[in-house]
Amino acid sequence: MIKMNKKAAFYTLGCKVNQYETEAIIDIFLDNNFEIVDFSAEADVYIINSCTVTNQAASKSRKIARRAKRSNNDSLVAVVGCYTQAFPEEVSSISEIDFIMGSSNKSKIVNKVKKLLAGKNVDNEIKEYQELKDYEDLEIKRLSNTTRANIKIEDGCNQFCSYCIIPYARGPVRSREQKSILNEIKKMIGQGVKEIILTGTHLGAYGTDKGNKTALTDLMQQLTELNNLQRLRLSSIEGTEIDAKMIDLIAENDIFCPHLHLPLQSGSNEILKAMQRPYTAEEFKETINKIRAKIPDIAITTDIIVGFPGENEKTFKQTLELVKELKFSKIHVFPFSAREGTPAFKMDNKLNGNIIKKFSKKLRFINKSLMEEYQANFLGQNKKVLIEEARDQQTGFLTGYTDNYLKILVEGPDNLKNTLREVKLEQSFDHSHIKGIIIE
Ligand code: SF4
Repeated sequence: MIKMNKKAAFYTLGCKVNQYETEAIIDIFLDNNFEIVDFSAEADVYIINSCTVTNQAASKSRKIARRAKRSNNDSLVAVVGCYTQAFPEEVSSISEIDFIMGSSNKSKIVNKVKKLLAGKNVDNEIKEYQELKDYEDLEIKRLSNTTRANIKIEDGCNQFCSYCIIPYARGPVRSREQKSILNEIKKMIGQGVKEIILTGTHLGAYGTDKGNKTALTDLMQQLTELNNLQRLRLSSIEGTEIDAKMIDLIAENDIFCPHLHLPLQSGSNEILKAMQRPYTAEEFKETINKIRAKIPDIAITTDIIVGFPGENEKTFKQTLELVKELKFSKIHVFPFSAREGTPAFKMDNKLNGNIIKKFSKKLRFINKSLMEEYQANFLGQNKKVLIEEARDQQTGFLTGYTDNYLKILVEGPDNLKNTLREVKLEQSFDHSHIKGIIIE
């Protein structure tokens, strides 16, 4: 009789770190002879790598788990990662979930699954977040997409911003060995990856657990020496963690994308203080000025939380004025939603939902004009565009990104996917797309 491989399906919620980890876990399942199937198909095991950053993310994690059980009532459904780590009791009380794991030992999920499939028992023990002491060295061996790859270099956060649940879900800062990062990046380049994104829960804290405050800059310096690395991008990083050498490296080396995502969160010092953010609006502005002095065309994107407890017309106006002055190329607007387990959840000066909606609408309107303004600087220019795997659903055009994260639409055949092309940026299509033509 032919022994059929067991089928496993994966669903990832949340950030780039989660995406990286799921890919690495899939590799381990493949090494253990599982067949990987689409999440909508019938599988023997469903693994949900969960997110808890907002109430909606947690609720979606629960919904997906229930949906998985409905696909195959005899399957094993596991919820792992941030949501489980921060709220183990809440997750394990859901009847459709067969087992849970937190933010550690993700490489061991497969062992638990095998035990359960063999009819053995496993424990659902979750370590306290403070006990997550070691960096778990996962690695992606088989890439599902070679256009762009996330490389996780750090886990955890010690900052405890008052609205954020992440430190409780990811534990303290733990950094990956530089050698392990370089090896993985070399392998990815060998497999044809065009763009690498360095990512972490708190990227700029890389190395600080080992007392090395310049570890990220040192790593970036090392990466300039790799052959055939075409593009390197940093994921979100705190403005306070950008140093002069890092700015010089980005300015002087073509492999670094001139794009930084620096979360501002608010333009009001009063609100920044309540958020427990470690800078003032003036300090943030100074950082941006230093960056632009060396890299004038750089795209600087940001996050703003709208309607934090205590926000009022005056503090919100300060935010609007600052974002206009700093000319962000894109703002991610997050209407405040209190996350249970954080200090902000207990704050009693919360805003009415309608005011938060009104403020968010205003900021989104400004974001649109800032995006148009940034786009306009590049119309008529030629830029290298990395063509993506997926076409634009609405127009059917190929899509791609410039190094400074402008999204481009071009006409062309499928064999241009996953290649870097010289494109003339012809005209604005809408505030988030430019229409271009391929030059070569
Ligand atoms: S820096 Fe602040 S917002 Fe970012 S993960 Fe840490 S606590 Fe959360």
